Amino acid sequence: MSTFSALPLIEPLQRALAEVDYAEMTPVQAASLPAILAAQDVVAQAKTGSGKTAAFALGVLSKVDFSRAHLQGLVLCPTRELADQVSREIRRLACFIPNVKVLTLCGGVPVRIHLASLAHQPHIVVGTPGRILDLLRKEALPLGAVTTLVLDEADRMLDMGFADDIRDIIERTPKQRQTLMFSATMPEAIRDFSRQFQIKPLDVTVTSGADAVLIEQ
Ligand code: ADP
Ligand code: MG
Repeated sequence: MSTFSALPLIEPLQRALAEVDYAEMTPVQAASLPAILAAQDVVAQAKTGSGKTAAFALGVLSKVDFSRAHLQGLVLCPTRELADQVSREIRRLACFIPNVKVLTLCGGVPVRIHLASLAHQPHIVVGTPGRILDLLRKEALPLGAVTTLVLDEADRMLDMGFADDIRDIIERTPKQRQTLMFSATMPEAIRDFSRQFQIKPLDVTVTSGADAVLIEQ
């Protein structure tokens, strides 16, 4: 059995996990969280509904120094709906950490609204590559303090033609960041991204049978 209590998580996160009734880790969480919390890069493949969001959300929330009013965690998602879901999960797990600022930045909202929101830096931004890049080009989104970068649903982002935008965004983040990649499938293009932008990633594959986990260094 793999319970969250075995992980080196701060007390407010342990309390939130109890609050949302996550007793045991899902296989992808059990396989990736020890490495994520040890600040290692991880590239993980597991099917939809396997709990990938909480795996990286707990990683990002563990790493952020909430006493510093800087953007430290950046999560890229393919669509507005997915970004909203991810923001919701991050906020849910952060509910016992005081003054956490999570901002969702996606198209469909006037840029001026995002520019106004960014007058006060959030700790964590979740967004789609197009809008994030727009804001970067306007120099409205400082990435110099980013310590964790997450590519969620990496396969879908590449399918949607975001590869160049994502590369452009990654290149504006600090080199000594932690990079986490999550995907339902692992096409060669994602392997290429991993080789290009991750350092010694832990490779986690959870195959269709819920318990079959393959971990490779
Ligand atoms: P994925 O991103 O892999 O498609 P999600 O992160 O959206 O999957 O999680 C799917 C569902 O599983 C969500 O409703 C989430 O609340 C739930 N979930 C995640 N982790 C756990 C857990 N450890 N125990 C119980 N439910 C969980
Ligand atoms: Mg997901």
